[in-house]
Amino acid sequence: MSALKASLRAGCACLMASIPGAWAQPAPSINTGGVINAASSAPGAPVTPGSIASAYGSFLLSAPSWAQGVPLPASLGGLSLTFGAAEAPLFYASSGQVNLQIPWELTGQSEASLTATLAGHTSAPQTVNLAPFSPGIFSMNSQGTGPGAILDSSYHLVTPSNPASAGFTFILIYCTGLGPVTHQPVTGAAAPSNPLAETTMKPAVTVGGVPADVSFSGLAPGSVGEYQVNALVPSNAPTGDAVPVILSIGGVTSNTVTIAVQPPTADERAGQLLTRMTQDQKIQLVYGAGGPVAAIPSLPRNGAGWVPGIPQLGIPDLYLADGSVGVGNGVGPATALPSSIASAASWDTNEAYKYGSVIGAEMRAYGMNVNLGGNINLIGREPRDGRTFETKGEDPILAGKITAAHINAIQAQHVIGGIKHFALNDQETNRTGVDVQIGERGMRESDLLAFEIGVKDSHVQSVMCSYNLVNGVYACENQHLLNDVLKGDWRFPGFVMSDWGATHSTVAAALAGLDQEQPDSAFFGFLAQAVSSGQVPQSRLDDMVRRILRAMYAAGLFDYPEALGPIDTAADQAIAQEAEEQGAVLLKNAGGQLPLDAAAVKSIAIVGSHADVAVLSGGGSAQVVPTGGPALTEGYPCPPCWAQVIWDPSSPLQAIRTMAPAATVQFDPGTNAAAAAALAAASQVAIVFVSQWTSEGMDLPSLNFTDVIHSPPIDQDALVAAVAAANPHTIVVMENAGAQAMPWLGSVSAVLEAWFPGQRGGEAIANLLFGAVNPSGKLPLTFPASVDQLPHPDISDSTANYSEGFNVGYKWYDSQGLAPLFPFGYGLSYTTFSFSNRSVTNNLSSSNPNFQVTFKLTNTGSVAGAEVAQVYLAFPAATGEPPKRLVGWQKVFLQPGAAEQVTIEVDANDSSHPLSYWDVNSNAWLIAPGVYTVYLGNSSSGASLSAAGTLRIGS
Ligand code: BGC
Repeated sequence: MSALKASLRAGCACLMASIPGAWAQPAPSINTGGVINAASSAPGAPVTPGSIASAYGSFLLSAPSWAQGVPLPASLGGLSLTFGAAEAPLFYASSGQVNLQIPWELTGQSEASLTATLAGHTSAPQTVNLAPFSPGIFSMNSQGTGPGAILDSSYHLVTPSNPASAGFTFILIYCTGLGPVTHQPVTGAAAPSNPLAETTMKPAVTVGGVPADVSFSGLAPGSVGEYQVNALVPSNAPTGDAVPVILSIGGVTSNTVTIAVQPPTADERAGQLLTRMTQDQKIQLVYGAGGPVAAIPSLPRNGAGWVPGIPQLGIPDLYLADGSVGVGNGVGPATALPSSIASAASWDTNEAYKYGSVIGAEMRAYGMNVNLGGNINLIGREPRDGRTFETKGEDPILAGKITAAHINAIQAQHVIGGIKHFALNDQETNRTGVDVQIGERGMRESDLLAFEIGVKDSHVQSVMCSYNLVNGVYACENQHLLNDVLKGDWRFPGFVMSDWGATHSTVAAALAGLDQEQPDSAFFGFLAQAVSSGQVPQSRLDDMVRRILRAMYAAGLFDYPEALGPIDTAADQAIAQEAEEQGAVLLKNAGGQLPLDAAAVKSIAIVGSHADVAVLSGGGSAQVVPTGGPALTEGYPCPPCWAQVIWDPSSPLQAIRTMAPAATVQFDPGTNAAAAAALAAASQVAIVFVSQWTSEGMDLPSLNFTDVIHSPPIDQDALVAAVAAANPHTIVVMENAGAQAMPWLGSVSAVLEAWFPGQRGGEAIANLLFGAVNPSGKLPLTFPASVDQLPHPDISDSTANYSEGFNVGYKWYDSQGLAPLFPFGYGLSYTTFSFSNRSVTNNLSSSNPNFQVTFKLTNTGSVAGAEVAQVYLAFPAATGEPPKRLVGWQKVFLQPGAAEQVTIEVDANDSSHPLSYWDVNSNAWLIAPGVYTVYLGNSSSGASLSAAGTLRIGS
């Protein structure tokens, strides 16, 4: 503090020292009215004994002189100032200004006669008016206005970058002129710290016009003539960057200085509320009241979980609901969005934000305030994963950024966001018992990196730990994952909740960092005992509760009372349709089969997958009950045994008929391949809808379309083959979760990957097939050529040895030299694009280290469309990194013939660590020296990439 205060004082003196002296005079002189309060600079106002003042005049000093410590000298450079008989202690003297303490000895006088003496010459006397009080707050400029020399209790200046919190921050106001004190030091001597010299009268302080509680007023210990007033910024003080602070004492008001005030932080509010809670109330918040998991009863508002609030403390209930692809758990009819993976396939964070905002708004409308939706598991290791549709694909950066956009949108609706399943829950087979073995570098650069980006870019308030074990320890009691990585390295301030039934202990889980058991109290019901017996410190329980409360404050649960109401079905369904239109991926379009020409096509056969009335959705906890109700439901397949097959009410047949009113459009259910082929043969174009139902709790038996719903099963691969044999203009529309093998690919003319398309899927698909919307989605995961190409063709073992480490998805195929069916990042358009003038600018040695890839993108075709320009980086071989890593992208919309100069900037400090590798020795992300090659193109396949330049790092 003292260094800061010294510099404040010096700054004040230097600025004031510019008043010129009169060197020709033989004796010093003092200006009339030339003694003013050093803090307030109010000329003519009286000054107060004990305080700091500045005298202006001609003091004839050839060089400025400063006091060297305390007690202050009575003379500087031979100059002395005398009030009657009392010599003034001096801080600083120059030719035109002297900073001094008004001697305490003048207390009680109303005026004094001041003279200056230098080298035997004495100035003419000046009368100085004295008063018991002349308050002035030191400020950061010489006018005594503007930001104040006001510190927080950590002795940091209160500025817009370090604002005070209303109701929480004690400010230390440095001032002068507050008059008599209880232990008056000798004039010129430092104020003692023991006992403190308090003012005999307490000043009043206002912040933004609101009276503040003053807890201390006295001399600043260790200083001469400087006072310190400690006050609490009132909870109802106005907020802003320049809130006025004024002090008054004895009927005299100080100058005005300003500080920055913000509303209290979530941490501060949570900490304060915690102090008011009993042990029982704390315990109530650390588990759900919804169990047991084997038989969850119907919960209030029909969510997946519930934590009753504490009304006497104003703590609201927590209503937990799934929400990956819309509001789940049968909370109420909600907009069934296309799969999350379709949102990722848009490669567009703005689109993803809109997607999340539908979920957030509908959660809020239903009174659900905790969203459990952010599934970011990197299923690139296992594309047969039954939950693929809930995820964002195989790449940690794409998945992280898209998930963060979803969560940001959800939390903007005052709903606590969630990200899951932490971590490495990449398969459903044996999900509660599988032990994932993986090295530190492998996980940091794959699954954990996706979480790191998602957590940091969204400030998500909750993280759900997963069912599986990681390196021999259950994820929900995994000290390394929860305490070291999530809360330690990433500084995650929110709370960790268990997946439903994923808690396996009380003490171990609590100590490892689990903050809330869900959905019940099977283990944390014993937490109170564990705390009282000392097995779990009280501070750990307090930390759990503080984190939960903090999340509630941060998301706005206290400040934005729930607002139940109807959902905006029309607006939300429009976004659902747009999300599908931006996320569907055109995989094949031989001979320009698509778009269909509505004016020219005469007859269309629509085959399969209930395309007359519905589109398929994925099952499990993410299942949405669509507005308007399901078009139809089917069986309860085993496994997973507990999920229902829901077909969303959107008719592709109807939408296609609307698009092509002049055509004959007929439907065949596809249950009999020969009948379907006959209709196809009689039609100009055949569109076969194939579907693959998947769900939480199951993995697919293969990558082929495999009917897990019907008995006997429908062989859809055979159906496509039969239709394609009957009609050369066969188009396949796929409604499925993720990667598929397509044995019939060579015999059909076009394939559209529609994912689970959501309840406006039919309309979106029709728009895409007829070119009303040009497809622009790109695959967020690799489609393998066969199961044999996967890192783990067999996943039945109780141990999953992820020896491929960070080589997930395209990195695996690259590292193994395998050619997949469709590469990551791939997708066709009805137009064509060209990249030219590629260049790389290396700003890595700048203060904001980054590199920029600049290029010209031209729409060389005849229709408007969007291209996703993708930047991949090849690291120096010595790093041992995958052959290339996605480090940036941009989706660019262009009119036909138009060109745009595009720059993609890759920031070395981004949460995705685009230029770093995880160093196991230093436990840190490091940037290695060497030459890096920057590739640019429109998919991850080598054939579609060109080198844009190189970067040299180090010498
Ligand atoms: C799932 C979670 C889900 C929870 C609550 C579990 O079975 O794994 O993703 O959030 O149930 O529905």
